[in-house]
Amino acid sequence: MIVGAGFGGLAAAIDLQAHGFRDITILDRGPGLGGTWLYNDYPGAACDVPSHLYSYSFAQRRDWRRLCSFRDEIMEYLRDVAREYGVDRLVVPDTEVTKIAWDDADRHWTIETAAGAPRQADAVVLATGQLHRPAYPGIPGRETFAGHSFHSAEWDHDYDLAGKRVAVVGTGASAVQFVPEIAPQAGKLTVFQRSGNWFMPRRNRTYPPAVAAAIRHVPGVQAFRRHFIFHYGESLTAMIRHPRTLGRLGRIRSAAFMRAQIKDPDLRRRLWPDYTFGCKRVLFSSMFLPALQRPNVEVVTDAIERITPTGIVTTDGREHEVDCIIWGTGFRTSDFMFPMDVIGAGGRDLRDVWEDGPHAHLGLTIPGFPSLFTMYGPNTNTSGGSIIVYLEAQAAYLRQALARVRDADAAAIDVRPEVEAASDRALQARFAGTAWTECDSWYRNEDGRIITNWPGYMREYVASTAELDPAEYTLIDRPTRSREPAAA
Ligand code: NAP
Repeated sequence: MIVGAGFGGLAAAIDLQAHGFRDITILDRGPGLGGTWLYNDYPGAACDVPSHLYSYSFAQRRDWRRLCSFRDEIMEYLRDVAREYGVDRLVVPDTEVTKIAWDDADRHWTIETAAGAPRQADAVVLATGQLHRPAYPGIPGRETFAGHSFHSAEWDHDYDLAGKRVAVVGTGASAVQFVPEIAPQAGKLTVFQRSGNWFMPRRNRTYPPAVAAAIRHVPGVQAFRRHFIFHYGESLTAMIRHPRTLGRLGRIRSAAFMRAQIKDPDLRRRLWPDYTFGCKRVLFSSMFLPALQRPNVEVVTDAIERITPTGIVTTDGREHEVDCIIWGTGFRTSDFMFPMDVIGAGGRDLRDVWEDGPHAHLGLTIPGFPSLFTMYGPNTNTSGGSIIVYLEAQAAYLRQALARVRDADAAAIDVRPEVEAASDRALQARFAGTAWTECDSWYRNEDGRIITNWPGYMREYVASTAELDPAEYTLIDRPTRSREPAAA
């Protein structure tokens, strides 16, 4: 049973199916496949990772219209791939999983959903993503606002922003994409920034015909681009891993770009980030900073104190009256699959196991949760590469695990606790001295532990997961009494 029909869940289904696993179901709470791309359809939504790398290695396209595709093109790609590989028909939409529990006696998982009878499965792949549950800040008075408001991941396309006084709270990767789109429409746009960002240039125009033709027709050009972009991503990670040396080069490049884009010294000072380059996601946009300098746009960097029925009050005592507030405040990334209940062997609740922060062997397997795999799990996010590289590696790894179960005619496979504990210690130690440790970000939990990001390079993750080491796992025998076989 796979939970989540985004890039991760579909990658797992395709890989498992290609290796002879036939009884696969993909449950998704949404009305169809797409995962985060289904929900995030705000104006300008695009992937800031170039499409030649933000696409499956086994389903490469030569006809991307630009470097970084917009959301609709990504959705079209994902639907096409799912259809091509015959996994679209495995998706059961509108089915929110509320609880999964391991049955110690019968040695299978029971999956409960918001509606309908419980299902059973020999294995569960949780491909629920990190970036889909909107995070609303706990600003006092938020619920008292009498105007219109919505989150960037729940964009209200029926609400006409034309001529309105609009507030945007947050200046992360999402806001950077939609602010340039809505700034020309709004009567007045007030952007509330809590922290500045490091920017790198990206125009993302459609490819000139000659470039598009070369990618499409000249053998090797597409593969070369993918290779180049992969190594460009690795170089960004190198800057984050080595903030005092390589990171300085990134900072110099970014600072030069930002100085050229922000002419007004006061605005520049207010927009300037006060943390190490790469600590938070570096934002690629040549459009955002110019949009902030439009005559109808104001940037407010005083902290938000409270929300009133008519607007936003900042700590300088000013009330900014607005008709609409758009929350560009990101996602509840540390929740992973929660609020789903995940109950493992011996009735252990994953919430208790993760009391001090989520952790899993290679982000995938948790001791005491047999044949449960968390795709895009703890510490597998990337700041410098494409998550799809990680997801494909995870799909192949979990398929190897399930192939072992199948070959041994066992019930399930469980990672050894000492293996998981040691790999977690080693992983956390690798953050020492990196830029990620030098500021607060959504990569960390309240205790400061980095819980979302992989500390190294894409190539290291791919190498670490390439071959499952049987010594790191135990196989769980089938129960002695006979039972009806459950679904895979
Ligand atoms: P985000 O990066 O978490 O940004 C949230 C923004 O809201 C930040 O500017 C944050 O400020 C601000 N904020 C949060 N609470 C606030 C408060 N109480 N008052 C004022 N400001 C507040 O969220 P996101 O922009 O939605 O992006 C999330 C992640 O999604 C990205 O990092 C990226 O991984 C992914 N994403 C990717 C793409 C892509 O193109 N691939 C596009 C969009 C999103 P602070 O910085 O001070 O916390």
